[in-house]
Amino acid sequence: MRYILTCFDELNLDSRAIEGIFLSHEHSDHIRGAGVLSRNRQIPLWSNPGTLKAAKHKLGKVFQHKMFTTERVIKIKDLEILPIPVSHDAVEPVCFRIHQKNTDLQVGIVTDIGILTPPVKHYLQNINLLMLESNYDLDMLVNGTYPENVKLFIMGELGHLSNREAGESLVELIGDETKHILLSHISQDNNTQTLAYGTVSKIIERHGFKKSILNLTYHNKMSNVFTFR
Ligand SMILES: [Zn+2]
Ligand SMILES: [Zn+2]
Repeated sequence: MRYILTCFDELNLDSRAIEGIFLSHEHSDHIRGAGVLSRNRQIPLWSNPGTLKAAKHKLGKVFQHKMFTTERVIKIKDLEILPIPVSHDAVEPVCFRIHQKNTDLQVGIVTDIGILTPPVKHYLQNINLLMLESNYDLDMLVNGTYPENVKLFIMGELGHLSNREAGESLVELIGDETKHILLSHISQDNNTQTLAYGTVSKIIERHGFKKSILNLTYHNKMSNVFTFR
């Protein structure tokens, strides 16, 4: 929570302006800090019923629970937020498409997907900014120290996207309106920022897309800031 608030300060944003915290699924790396942020700043916490059930005991007391239905749009001010079902080892995992109606800007937040499924492809093609996971480098994972069953699980359809799979997914998702891609959820054990960028940029360039749209995210610092006019 402290890190999120520090980032808000650095960007001169007021944390009191946060309208809601949205949970994609119940895994600890995605909900750590959500309960305390909701409590301390009095921010409603949104999830679908499956994620709430699985996450409840880890969240502690929250300011307010709000429920969404997967694949049904939630309207908050001029935003339309669509939770999209994904293939991942959780009770009811989703990713999100956020549409700002006033500007017609569309943003996708997509991590923790084992494979690119038809709904993800359908809802996230040709959007303006896409944050997509590029979780592991296959060689690093295969030759790394994780137990064999965990390695197989990460590579499976309910696991994560490798750098190569992220690149191949992007080839299907990038369109004329896509201005920025952010590679995210980059494993600290089985990947590096350099490998993710290198593998993904090669694949998209081979398909005629410019690598200048690619950006990285980090574990200990903010990504670039993107402005749309
Ligand atoms: Zn997960
Ligand atoms: Zn995760």
